[in-house]
Amino acid sequence: MTTLKEKTLRTAAELVEAGLGNGSDLAALQRVASRYAVAITPVIAELIDPADPHDPIARQFVPDVRELVQHAEESADPIGDDAYSPVEGIVHRYPDRVLLKIVNACAVYCRFCFRREMVGPGRGALTPKALAAGLAYIRATPQIWEVILTGGDPLILSPRRLKAMMVELAAIDHVKVLRIHTRLPVAAPERISPALIRALRVPGKASYVVLHANHPRELTAAARAACARLIDAGIPMLSQSVLLRGVNDDVATMSALLRALVECRIKPYYLHHADLAPGTAHLRTNIAEGQALMRALHGRVSGLCQPAYVLDIPGGHGKSPIGPNYLTRVGGANGTARYDVEDFNGRRHAYPPPC
Ligand code: SF4
Repeated sequence: MTTLKEKTLRTAAELVEAGLGNGSDLAALQRVASRYAVAITPVIAELIDPADPHDPIARQFVPDVRELVQHAEESADPIGDDAYSPVEGIVHRYPDRVLLKIVNACAVYCRFCFRREMVGPGRGALTPKALAAGLAYIRATPQIWEVILTGGDPLILSPRRLKAMMVELAAIDHVKVLRIHTRLPVAAPERISPALIRALRVPGKASYVVLHANHPRELTAAARAACARLIDAGIPMLSQSVLLRGVNDDVATMSALLRALVECRIKPYYLHHADLAPGTAHLRTNIAEGQALMRALHGRVSGLCQPAYVLDIPGGHGKSPIGPNYLTRVGGANGTARYDVEDFNGRRHAYPPPC
């Protein structure tokens, strides 16, 4: 018989039975779960301390009644994917790269997900017809240098399906880089199998895996081993994290996360300011807090550990770096400008104009 510890928790009743109700009553949890998908894998459930009402892993995965409150600035499509989608499954925002959203389901459902209105169990993968149209668009657009496989979580597909897709993409001459965005090494590390790793490697193209992780506790021994299997197979890894109130918005936690990633040979790539997804205000920080955190990290953790702090501009206008600025122009004309530069202790230093 399968016990609750061995299966993915998907309903409010299962959460309450597993002691992960977060103090909410069953009816309230059911209202949230009927609005936004829920899935907590055994690996993630094991990380949650049910006795801690502020547990940072629970905050990311256990539904909260505050999700039912939608603010005016929040949107079902907070980063404006739809406006840049020429065919189903493709988002072509920047000239040299596209997103290929191949599946709208995940192993776990994050409470802050920016695509929470699109992802959920049963949403499934692109139909063969839609996938063929997406691949045809990529083939017919020679400026596409990089394809980013995303969703949902593309690694929940079977190795056979992934391999077929990777082979199709690898056959497109102008596509040189295949990037896969995933949470699976953290959420279900046992699924990073030799067959899946073989599926991601295609001759003549560079495959990168970008891991989504937000708290150092997510990097369990099993997650670290899963990442090591990918990297040892020749697949470089980067990470992306979301800045989340009560999860990783303090210097100690963020430093521990970034260091742990680098220790796993994963280069921190993006720290995302949380998007304006519906019902997520309780998890968002403000930008000033994010900049203060980045300023505190500067000089205190290795340069290897520094991600770019970025904001996806609502409306589909793309990502921009929003980290603190250390340079101030203090005089001189263009070409002879003089600057002050701030060091990591907050002291300012003059930088001379060009000779
Ligand atoms: S894994 Fe990614 S796509 Fe899936 S719920 Fe989390 S943030 Fe959303």
